[in-house]
Amino acid sequence: MNAQKGNSVAQRRLAFRLAHPVAFAVMLLMLPALTVLTAFGVAPGVAPDDAMRKSVEQEIALSDWAPAAPAAQTYAAQERVLPGDTVAVLFDRLGVHDARALEFLRGDAIGRTIFRQLVPGKILRAETGPGGELESLRYFTSPTSLLEIRRTADGFASRERAIRDAPRLVYKTGTIGSSLFAATDAAGIPDPIAMQLVRMFATDIDFHVDLRKGDRFSVVYEMLYDSGELVAPGRILEAQFVNAGHVYRAVLFKDEDGSDAYYSLDGTSLAKAFLRSPVEFTRVSSAFGMRRHPIFKNMREHTGVDLAAPEGTRVLASADGTVVSAGWRGGYGNAIEIRHGGGITTLYGHLSRFAKEIHGGVRVKQGEVIGFVGHTGWATGPHLHYEFRIAGVYQDPMRVALPKAQPVSPRLRARFERVAAEARATIDLVSSSTPAPFE
Ligand SMILES: [Zn+2]
Repeated sequence: MNAQKGNSVAQRRLAFRLAHPVAFAVMLLMLPALTVLTAFGVAPGVAPDDAMRKSVEQEIALSDWAPAAPAAQTYAAQERVLPGDTVAVLFDRLGVHDARALEFLRGDAIGRTIFRQLVPGKILRAETGPGGELESLRYFTSPTSLLEIRRTADGFASRERAIRDAPRLVYKTGTIGSSLFAATDAAGIPDPIAMQLVRMFATDIDFHVDLRKGDRFSVVYEMLYDSGELVAPGRILEAQFVNAGHVYRAVLFKDEDGSDAYYSLDGTSLAKAFLRSPVEFTRVSSAFGMRRHPIFKNMREHTGVDLAAPEGTRVLASADGTVVSAGWRGGYGNAIEIRHGGGITTLYGHLSRFAKEIHGGVRVKQGEVIGFVGHTGWATGPHLHYEFRIAGVYQDPMRVALPKAQPVSPRLRARFERVAAEARATIDLVSSSTPAPFE
């Protein structure tokens, strides 16, 4: 209704302008005065019609949402939840320094939901005042809904609501020239999407060593909007990576327990295989100069591979499993051993430190950060010593035929075939379009 009124005023002004150009110029000078007049124009005394009464009632219902006196300047920050994050850690990364807000979250039903549901990969967006005081916090629980905390005149209020806009789909394609990130930058692909691309193909491709000049990728992903404002990159829905002539394709699919997982188009779950490398791939490792793993055979019978990486690089669980031990282990220094299904164990040595909450008995997910590269124990420089054993027998993880990924369950097969067929057609279309010009 307001918009209509605004339009008709604008139309009248436009008509006036066309008819009386000189008078219009004079009117511009008087605009502040006119604004006041307009405000009086909708002032009390006008009998509200039903629609207007309705909107007034809604405003009263939403009075909780009347913001407190607005801060002089607000800062917006956005973070993705990482494994092991707590709300306090996230507040720190978001630049929120507000004990009262933290206290409100702990005592509030929706606030407690945020504490309980900190799912890695999900997005928190905060607006803060100059001193780090929280103005608003939005936690995007799914591509369609969010939890919202907002400062009010007398504290904070919370609610759950739908994201106002449908995600928009973005189609991109690129060719590797100097590095993966140079190619994704040239294609205008945001970093979180580039990292998702790496993660979704990490069981097929070791991005540290396998990338080749001329490799190509195509990707379809969501960009999330709320109230017309771009919130964040969402999920990759489907993608293709052509590495050294091998074509890998994957599609997002809800598995049996209702969670999103990536499957290759033949229906095997990518998450159920092992990562090709348990060292996180980052912008730093993206340069081709770093792509060889030097092998330091500094033990007479070397029972693992040594993966060179800068001190502090994050070390990832190469598959789901249970931590057998995390502690000092002689020549291995700080080491973690994980037991997976099928009699497979993996070991990660020379760590500088362990990730929080990593100790014997803890279950870990594939790709979860378990520790950080270091040079503890018998190590001449920072690197990860990585072992892969099947029934206790050491296997070269760079050569071993890794255990087969599990396929889509037969009950979901028909639905998967439809999703995969659609993905195949979309990827064909995207990959045949013109690639990004500079890479
Ligand atoms: Zn070693």
